Amino acid sequence: MCKQCKISPVYEFTNKIKLCKNCFIKYFQKKVLYTIRKFKMIKKDEVIGYEKKRDFRGVVLFDILLMFSKKAMIEIIKLPTKKKINKKAVSSTIDSESDKITHILIKGKTSQLKEVSPINKKQIKPLYLFLDEEVRLYAKLKKLKFKEEKIKQDNISSFINDLEKKHPEIKRAIVNSYLELYN
Ligand SMILES: [Zn+2]
Repeated sequence: MCKQCKISPVYEFTNKIKLCKNCFIKYFQKKVLYTIRKFKMIKKDEVIGYEKKRDFRGVVLFDILLMFSKKAMIEIIKLPTKKKINKKAVSSTIDSESDKITHILIKGKTSQLKEVSPINKKQIKPLYLFLDEEVRLYAKLKKLKFKEEKIKQDNISSFINDLEKKHPEIKRAIVNSYLELYN
């Protein structure tokens, strides 16, 4: 049952806490706002660019940027544009970033580690603290239309995905360790 309102849940966290549809949507939106604040991603009056993408990460990024632009004094604008933008929002998640971090470490290209932080130069990643499965569920619950796209996998990616199945939270642990070391 949902921890808050005792109705049937749509999601269960690894710590066994369950949430119903409305509580999950609230949790997701609150956490996005927290992520934006925590990493100081967006300031007042900024113009935030985004690319229109039709995969689940892309449609959720747009949905939360729209929500944020109504709450805060910012403008969101579709790329490419001639207008000057302050930042570009991208749809990276725990899954995409843990995958990149592991590739960088295994291949020894540590100079690229800066690129996987929540803010990389003008690039911001509001979905940085979410798993793909949470992002996909949010898209479904909000009835956002998206196209299922195959994400390319090499041996290293399959290795991490297999690990995550046996030890849920390993991807989150990779991203959290990275944050502790580099921020
Ligand atoms: Zn609930």
